[in-house]
Amino acid sequence: MTKAVDYSWHQQPWQHLQTLHQQGRMPHALLISGIAGVGKRAFAEKLVASLLCKQPASGFHACGSCHSCQLLAAGSHPDHKEVSPEDAGKQIKVDQIRDLKQSQTLMPKVSRGKTVLITAADQMNISAFNSLLKLLEEPQPESVLILLSENSQQLPITIKSRCQTLVIPTPDSQEALAWLEHTDMQFSEDEWLSLLKLSHGAPLAAMAAGEAGLQQSRQVSQDIALLMQAKANPIDLATDWQQFDLKSVLYQIQHMMQSKITSLLLSDARVPEMILRQYWAIMDCISDTIKLISSQNNLNKILLIEDFMVTVMQHADQIHQLRETYR
Ligand SMILES: [Zn+2]
Repeated sequence: MTKAVDYSWHQQPWQHLQTLHQQGRMPHALLISGIAGVGKRAFAEKLVASLLCKQPASGFHACGSCHSCQLLAAGSHPDHKEVSPEDAGKQIKVDQIRDLKQSQTLMPKVSRGKTVLITAADQMNISAFNSLLKLLEEPQPESVLILLSENSQQLPITIKSRCQTLVIPTPDSQEALAWLEHTDMQFSEDEWLSLLKLSHGAPLAAMAAGEAGLQQSRQVSQDIALLMQAKANPIDLATDWQQFDLKSVLYQIQHMMQSKITSLLLSDARVPEMILRQYWAIMDCISDTIKLISSQNNLNKILLIEDFMVTVMQHADQIHQLRETYR
């Protein structure tokens, strides 16, 4: 499904790298950040191929046919190392970074330099970070270390300050739609827009959400409407929502509330400030909950979502009362 696709929103960051390369200013450490589903990994893999390629074409593109490109495609390039959490959702272990350090002392065998790709770079404990820091402090010539992170605010400042940051932007909905409409999945424009709301606008995440995402979108819309009318039980809903990716649920609700606020602000009838404040309070609560869910801490997500729903209900009740008062 993901053929050799070009991500239009990658063009600008790629041009930046191309310029750095031309000027011989490619950094030793690069932090590629951006939200989940914008193609950070594809971007990094393309960069690795270009850096290792023995005869890159114009535009800093790997040739795809040299010995280096063939080895990389086969997953057996001796000058490239990848470090990822051994199990999905787990941390990168300090031993993995130590092994990496060991391998970095060797001379490149095929290409001019060496590359390292560390995915989910924010998922490390303190000792792994310290070990990585030493590696960053002693850069090897012609070697580029690439860190990927969707939560780069969680990286220690000591790590971040030694990397050049490159942000993969989230395309606007027009650009995302134009790209999605060229995929093999046959969804209508409205369906794609619903899916983009779940993924905070990230096209690859919208694609991955697919049919199940549309179901989630419909159910959460209904549930929130009921909750706002105090016709749903937060505990039942929280249990029910366990089947969903909670971050995408919150993105969806954030979008719903944003639209609601916009429509209130644009409506002809003057909406009392007190009512708007309640909606803004809900927005704050959504952002806080997203932050908590994104953090590494082992929290009870069910409880977190229950708390969130209770807060939403309280504000909805306030809105209801205020509407009665201002009637
Ligand atoms: Zn090549």
